[in-house]
Amino acid sequence: MIGVFGGTFDPVHFGHLRPALEVHEALELREMRLIPCYQPPHREPPAADARARLTLLRAAVGDDTPGLLVDNREMQREGVSYMVDTLGSLREELGDEPLCLVLGADAFAQLHTWHRWQAIVELAHLVVTHRPGWSLEADHLTPPLQSLWAQRRVEDRAALAAAPAGAILLQAVTQLDISATRIRQLVAEGRSPRFLLPEAVWNLIRLQGLYNIHRER
Ligand code: ATP
Repeated sequence: MIGVFGGTFDPVHFGHLRPALEVHEALELREMRLIPCYQPPHREPPAADARARLTLLRAAVGDDTPGLLVDNREMQREGVSYMVDTLGSLREELGDEPLCLVLGADAFAQLHTWHRWQAIVELAHLVVTHRPGWSLEADHLTPPLQSLWAQRRVEDRAALAAAPAGAILLQAVTQLDISATRIRQLVAEGRSPRFLLPEAVWNLIRLQGLYNIHRER
């Protein structure tokens, strides 16, 4: 069973990395693939270009976190990065091996707006994690997601391992109230984002002058 953790990673921070690692361990995944998007469909173009975001992500993951790896297929594909295409290409490689798409509560709450979202649930399981400030209570979800949740919800890893795709699991992770938006703001304002993201990532942001950094610290 493998996991996919997609994102803009603009920049990557501990709110991505810690949940990715915890899901990897809790679900005993063979590997967890962090997949940076080239061009996000649902938002403004990222502040840092694709190559810079990939470099930061690689620096964050390093070589010494077994099972966590960076997959650059969306970068290579270019164009708008649709998750359904990414999962389709992974599915071709994996055959029937279970595939889990990890989504924070904010991303899950928007799933019904994603390109061919129903096909996504046929290609992968969904592993949904809480995120500070976002509720997963039914009355905070739109009707299509409420019924998806009601129909597909499972309670444990075994149910995921038993099928290639199609189930939804709520997975507890350490709650870290960190966002890339906040980090970009801090950097642009000349304040320090240290301890919200790996030191290696912060060093590269300074070295490359990303996020309108305007003074040395
Ligand atoms: P931005 O602030 O630029 O919107 P972000 O910090 O939300 O970025 P993304 O790259 O958009 O990060 O998020 C990718 C995935 O990581 C999503 O599934 C999102 O829910 C999840 N995620 C991001 N930050 C956290 C966090 N602090 N805790 C849990 N999940 C998170």
